[in-house]
Amino acid sequence: MAKIIRSIRAKKSSVPSVPKKPAKKAVKSSPKPAAKKSLKPKPWTPAEIHETFSRFRKANPEPKGELEHLNPYTLLVAVVLSAQATDAGVNKATRALFAVADTPERMLELGEEKVREYIKTIGLYRNKAKNVIALSEKLIAEFGGEVPRTRAEIETLPGAGRKTANVVLNMAYGEHTMAVDTHVFRVGNRTGLAPGNTPLEVELGLEKVIPSEFMLHAHHWLILHGRYTCLARKPRCEVCLINDLCRWPEKTV
Ligand code: SF4
Repeated sequence: MAKIIRSIRAKKSSVPSVPKKPAKKAVKSSPKPAAKKSLKPKPWTPAEIHETFSRFRKANPEPKGELEHLNPYTLLVAVVLSAQATDAGVNKATRALFAVADTPERMLELGEEKVREYIKTIGLYRNKAKNVIALSEKLIAEFGGEVPRTRAEIETLPGAGRKTANVVLNMAYGEHTMAVDTHVFRVGNRTGLAPGNTPLEVELGLEKVIPSEFMLHAHHWLILHGRYTCLARKPRCEVCLINDLCRWPEKTV
């Protein structure tokens, strides 16, 4: 019997024992990181947004765009010509052009070469002259010589994108559209009114928060604000109408 017990013990001891888990090192409990301060600016309240646009309205009840035009067609042409150009530069060229061609028919009569001559002081004028002729042809062929009233239709015209369509719909037809150019993009982001990585995001954000009663003129108020007050390099925060409401952490007041 004693022999059997000895042999069982011997067998047991030959079984490799399961390696023990290494003892856990005592981890010093480090102090919990302090809750990070949110860098997100406080969202605007509807009352603050109403206040902002009431101030813009009081300061400039009937804001006007600075692109000179005589009718929806010349407005469309002026906006197409204004891509990567200043309004003042476009006006200088279009004053003479529109005096001789203020309809698609007259523009076609003038012809691409002469259009090019009129607008040669504007950047990318060769391509723009081509577009002006092509869009005039299309207006006559497909829209009875009139500028169409929907964004989708305007966007089919050569040289016209979403921004062009929004400007034309707003200025020529009184639609509540929001065209986002470089100024509106900057103001929407800096103020925190409608932050976005793309013009479309800012456009949709602004449309969502601006009360309808201000939408007819909101585009111009924001452009003018960006052009003359909230300047790209050196914003004039000290004279800004909404400097108490603006959320930009770098504002100078
Ligand atoms: S306070 Fe300064 S940054 Fe803010 S909107 Fe006015 S000008 Fe622009």
